[in-house]
Amino acid sequence: MKTNLNNITMNIRRISVAFLFLLFLPTWLMSQSENVDLSMIYKIKQEGLKNSNVEELAFWLTDFAGPRLTASTGFNRGCEAAQKKMEEFGFQNVRIEPARDWSRGGWDNLKTYAAMTAPYYVNFACNPVAWTGSTNGSVKGEVVLLDVKEEGDLDKYKGKLSGKIVLMPSTQTYEVTFEPLASRLTDTQLKDLSMASAGAGGRRPAFDRTAYMAQQALRSKISAFVITEGASVILNSAGIFNVPRSNGANYKSGDKEPIAELNLPIEDHGRMVRLLQHQVPVVMEIEIQNKFFESPKVYNVIGEIPGSDKLLKNEIVLLGAHIDSWNGGTGAADNASGCIVMLEALRILKNLDITPRRTIRIALWGGEEQGLHGSAGYVEKYLVDPTTKEHKPDYDKFAGYFNMDNGTGKYRGIYSQENELVRPIFDEWLKPFADMGCSTVTIRNTSGTDHLSFDRVGLPGFQFIQDNIEYGRGYHTVMDTYERLVMADLMQNAVITASFVYNAAMRNSKLPAKPVMKPGANADQGPRF
Ligand SMILES: [Zn+2]
Repeated sequence: MKTNLNNITMNIRRISVAFLFLLFLPTWLMSQSENVDLSMIYKIKQEGLKNSNVEELAFWLTDFAGPRLTASTGFNRGCEAAQKKMEEFGFQNVRIEPARDWSRGGWDNLKTYAAMTAPYYVNFACNPVAWTGSTNGSVKGEVVLLDVKEEGDLDKYKGKLSGKIVLMPSTQTYEVTFEPLASRLTDTQLKDLSMASAGAGGRRPAFDRTAYMAQQALRSKISAFVITEGASVILNSAGIFNVPRSNGANYKSGDKEPIAELNLPIEDHGRMVRLLQHQVPVVMEIEIQNKFFESPKVYNVIGEIPGSDKLLKNEIVLLGAHIDSWNGGTGAADNASGCIVMLEALRILKNLDITPRRTIRIALWGGEEQGLHGSAGYVEKYLVDPTTKEHKPDYDKFAGYFNMDNGTGKYRGIYSQENELVRPIFDEWLKPFADMGCSTVTIRNTSGTDHLSFDRVGLPGFQFIQDNIEYGRGYHTVMDTYERLVMADLMQNAVITASFVYNAAMRNSKLPAKPVMKPGANADQGPRF
């Protein structure tokens, strides 16, 4: 009897201990999971700051690849250079894979020359509008300023444009700026970001789609009229400071080739407008040669370090940036910088011979500039059926996405994208980087790039807060070249990205997604790119 009683008491004790253990297990696991491995952070910092590859990566993605307009020869060269680097670094399952159908087709600029030859000679830095056509060899003609606010205004130009070069009116006026070109976020600005509440700030102003569509429709009518009238070139003012900004024509593969079109710096455009307004005749000589070709898909470049945990290796931690750029410059800040950081982050981890529990995958997206096509195509291919909106099997294995696309500036923290659940996690992850000035978590959303492809289907996708380094003036212009890159900032960003994806790959559970709300509770964020 005594023995039995003893046994029962022992069993009760055992059960109590087990019960207590189970009771506190979740808390224990949670606190354990954010125990950042400081010896790994030390190694990441040493590898990233003392053995950096960012300058080398910058060369291959900018100077070597050149402009990387989606579906252009430069884009393909950039993707192949990135693929080669991934293979050299020892990433696995490296591939350039189609993400989505692409309606515009391929386009390369082969030659651009533009000069004013009367009242005196001066040549202009200029940039052809992507997916527009060529001149008929070298053309020389009088410049006509087209003053059209509505379709009816076109009548006064009937029969007057044959062989002429058409100057579109200014869309903006030059204004002197007293703001610095580059700045670091101040302590006050960072404090404001960290104290912001969900829904406040960070959203773009409402997009007036009707006005935009009307403007596009008028623009198409002008182009059609100008072609019918036999003009040879359209010139636009594009840019806010001595460099033309790139953009693209609304062209679909198989359409008739649009008329040749050039973007001029605001100063050169303004000079000709003022000469014409003073009745001084202006003559220009222009030669543009563009090539259209078949290219029916948009591509992403992908590689990974496979996971090692039996249960978690099929879960994916994703890091990425868009590799496409506009056709001016070499798309250095926008967005070779993001690709450099992501490639370097994974290189650091690979070189440290890590064995992550989850798979860490890098994706360099195509087609971002025309509407997040690469990342959206990835979501459609692996995560959510685009027609039925049903989740694919990989949806539940998605453990988080980290994106960079705000220029070369260093990371100062991260946007939690209104996800309250990740804030305490990111607070812990950022602690080892406080001395690098990167410790802010803001509840705010940030818009305009590839993390949205994941966020809008309910998956955790994030962008970092970055200092604003010459970004507003330089992006999408011919000036966005290697010189715009601040290597020290990119090195810091690679180190922080490496530690974030490492933590995400090692913690016990996936990064939490935002809880699902009834339809309509999550406000739409406006334009997607
Ligand atoms: Zn970008």
